[in-house]
Amino acid sequence: MRVLYAGAIIGIAYCLIRFVEYNFYFARSRAPNGAEAAAIGAADALVAVTPGFGGYAARRVGTLARIADRDLTPTKWALEPQFASSLLVLTDALVSEVDTPFLASTIVHEMVHEGQFPGYKGTSWAQKAAYQVQSDFLRQLGIQGTAAQMYRQFPNTRADYITDLHDEFSDYNVRNPAIR
Ligand SMILES: [Zn+2]
Repeated sequence: MRVLYAGAIIGIAYCLIRFVEYNFYFARSRAPNGAEAAAIGAADALVAVTPGFGGYAARRVGTLARIADRDLTPTKWALEPQFASSLLVLTDALVSEVDTPFLASTIVHEMVHEGQFPGYKGTSWAQKAAYQVQSDFLRQLGIQGTAAQMYRQFPNTRADYITDLHDEFSDYNVRNPAIR
């Protein structure tokens, strides 16, 4: 009986945390405008047609994309709440100042988290897994090279996005990183 009570309390606590977290990020984000919705749609479509990554597109169907100003997010480019996993918060900078393949790669990264257990998502193992899949996705699209090459190849993508991604791939020891 005691186990049942404990289970019920954990269940209620989980729902409560999820509710609070969902509303925290929902209140600090907004619906995408027309241009942003088009950019997200193009990225989603790219994920869906990339061989080996259709599962992430399927996962994405169940999530709601919202836009946040960069200042309002604890992470710099995008986030997927720890418990409220049906919410995908993308920064306005990511959606409007980064090319489609990179936006798509960040969506794939967040969809890796979507499949991870709440509480585990924030660990370095969880991040390493997400960056590995993100890197593999870019290589699958034929995107690979040094950061310097990427700045030249993608002049419409913010250089700090490329720099950050390069650093994360390096910090998490991603195998065959798309950005060396
Ligand atoms: Zn991550």
